[in-house]
Amino acid sequence: MKKTDVVIVGAGPVGCVAGYYLARKGVDVTVIDAGEAGTQDLRASTFHPSTLEMLDTLGIADELIAMGLKAPVFQWRERSGGETFRFDLSELADVTAYPFRIQCEQYHLARMLAERIEAEPKATVLFNHRMLGYRQKEDCVEVSIETPFDILDIEAKYLIGADGANSVVRKLMGVEFEGFTYPEKFLCLTTTEPLDNHIIDLDYVNYVSDPMEWLVLLRVPSLWRVLVPAEENEADSYLLSDAKKEKVFSGLIAKPDVPTDHRTIYRVHQRVAKSLRDNRVMIIGDAAHLNNPLGGLGMNSGIHDAFNLCPKMVDILQGEGDADALLSSFNDERLSATIELVQAQTIQNMEFMKEGDSEQHRLRKDAMRKLVEDPVKRRSYMLRQSMLPSDRTSIPN
Ligand SMILES: Cc1cc2nc3c(=O)[nH]c(=O)nc-3n(C[C@H](O)[C@H](O)[C@H](O)COP(=O)(O)OP(=O)(O)OC[C@H]3O[C@@H](n4cnc5c(N)ncnc54)[C@H](O)[C@@H]3O)c2cc1C
Repeated sequence: MKKTDVVIVGAGPVGCVAGYYLARKGVDVTVIDAGEAGTQDLRASTFHPSTLEMLDTLGIADELIAMGLKAPVFQWRERSGGETFRFDLSELADVTAYPFRIQCEQYHLARMLAERIEAEPKATVLFNHRMLGYRQKEDCVEVSIETPFDILDIEAKYLIGADGANSVVRKLMGVEFEGFTYPEKFLCLTTTEPLDNHIIDLDYVNYVSDPMEWLVLLRVPSLWRVLVPAEENEADSYLLSDAKKEKVFSGLIAKPDVPTDHRTIYRVHQRVAKSLRDNRVMIIGDAAHLNNPLGGLGMNSGIHDAFNLCPKMVDILQGEGDADALLSSFNDERLSATIELVQAQTIQNMEFMKEGDSEQHRLRKDAMRKLVEDPVKRRSYMLRQSMLPSDRTSIPN
């Protein structure tokens, strides 16, 4: 049976970051993915300052920045022409070397890292390899994998599930995936139509609230992305039709005949696994927690999981520290960060988007206005949205 130190299931952005971190430290790591190499994935497009700092320690921040767009400013606005609240991350230049978001699709990072992992002597990425199951033994985990031609068994010291929302690793761990699913579906359209020629004062990241149809308008290097909610009972065939596309763009820029490159429907959840660890098996990224995309925190928090777990794994594999204590601290630290920051913030972001006319929304707007006007509160809000520590006072070395 093939032996390795760590098997990572999933070569999405989170599995690839974990794989590359371990590979650079000389760990024998095998990353497997059920899909094809180089798959395009039009989900995450926003990388936060804290994540760029982490990627910098892997020597890849500059390459990612070169592939994306720098977005120092993000804004919340009302669709009906009300107020716009703008937040300029340049104000954080005294505490981070990356006082901006990078707008770049997640598959660029995953592709770049898969290539780099392959170039490391003791690491490999195997596409078209689907994990079927695993068996935990006292000192190892036996992982069963379906390849295009046969079933392969690998013995690993540890298994990391970075296998996304429908994670088989999580299901086999038998942990509850607590939370809820939003009733509405989310429709994501991409277009080369320059939306900023039609809508004044757009930034690269725009959250647009409205009681009827809120929107997220995001710029990535070659396209604009438009995210709108859709009624639960609207058929997928209608949501993907020209009629729906024309309705969205007529309402948005009074121009129905815009070209679209992609049209994708998503179900959106707020869920956190009860535990991120079962002995030698850990879950990270979407396998461990899901949240709505408002604020761009899902992939970012998955990368933060990898940066919490991987240094501990390196210590354990080098015989330093108590494995059980280190892995328990990964579980505790990442569960509390997920629940207290990511879940709380994204639920709040969604509420701000949806409730256009209500008294609640007026109160939220009052709070947002005070926040924008108060330099201390504004700074604290931007640190939180950027997933940076609230008590940071200088740029870390
Ligand atoms: C519309 C939208 C916009 C978003 N925007 C943002 C954003 O701007 N910023 C942000 O931070 N987040 C965003 N997110 C969330 C982000 O896309 C996810 O959090 C991110 O993709 C999670 O990465 P991951 O590597 O954990 O999982 P995934 O990207 O889902 O990767 C999982 C991988 O595991 C593989 N896999 C699954 N099962 C198996 C198996 N049994 N064996 C082998 N391989 C397997 C899959 O093929 C896949 O490649 C957005 C989400 C949506 C829907």
